[in-house]
Amino acid sequence: MPFAEAAPLANDPIPGNRTPFRIYESDAASILTSTGGFIRDAGFTHSLTPARNCTFACTYCYVPTMKMYGGLKPEDWQQWGQFTTFKRNAAALLRKSVRPEQIIYCSPLVDPYQPAEAEQMLMPEVLDVLIERPPRVFTIQTRGPLILRDLPRLEVLARRTCLRVSFSITTDRDDVRKWYEPLCASIDERVDTVRRLRQAGIAVYATLAPLLPCDPDALTDLALAITGDDIIADPFHVRSVKTTGATTREAASRISLKRGFSEWHDPSFQMKIVDRMRQRARAAGRRLDAGVPAFGWLAEVNP
Ligand code: SF4
Repeated sequence: MPFAEAAPLANDPIPGNRTPFRIYESDAASILTSTGGFIRDAGFTHSLTPARNCTFACTYCYVPTMKMYGGLKPEDWQQWGQFTTFKRNAAALLRKSVRPEQIIYCSPLVDPYQPAEAEQMLMPEVLDVLIERPPRVFTIQTRGPLILRDLPRLEVLARRTCLRVSFSITTDRDDVRKWYEPLCASIDERVDTVRRLRQAGIAVYATLAPLLPCDPDALTDLALAITGDDIIADPFHVRSVKTTGATTREAASRISLKRGFSEWHDPSFQMKIVDRMRQRARAAGRRLDAGVPAFGWLAEVNP
């Protein structure tokens, strides 16, 4: 057993072209964390992270660059995406700690609908607790079509609290998607997921984060077409402007260099792209923005 506190559940190769991953479980000391930094500034009071390490393994993921400050262990950032450790007592802890006034973000450190969740089935338990004891706002950040598995529960929860799904759509180009996030669903599958969530009455935001190389007009038009709410964009974090904290993994920078996309890591280029997208959304009567103000839309308390 590689990690003393974790019991392995499975060691299954993912069918098709997916990389094998391992699943572990451990008991967490707590499940809701008081927010700090960017998430607190946006208006969230708490975050909920159901697992440590994420089997989507995105090449740009900021989380492993946080190392122990992201609650990780060395094996997590050294083997990012190769395994995950679920907090098996998440629902029991949540039942004791959730409060009606909380504004909860799920999750800053893992995708709650990562591939391993398909067999772990931890989120249905979490949603059941929230249905029983709804917080003020619950925002799910994901790029996983697996969320549709829990649609009946989400529909119930949406009637009990302000539920938002922030769904990541990173580019309009599936070749780009395959280079930077090969284990994530295709753009078409994500678009279909957003449509189905909306048809069920769930509030869905398109989160263009990180903003991968794309046709900015086409990506803006896509986000406008498939959602009815504001659009959040977030270019690659770069050390030249964000000198501390989480930043883009080296793997993504190497891909950008190889594919001729290094300008997408250049802050002045990023500003021009976001501004162009902002103008296009504004012309359509919608808001698109980046940073804390945009992220704050996900934490707003409905009157
Ligand atoms: S889905 Fe999110 S948390 Fe998971 S690897 Fe990708 S960027 Fe990181």
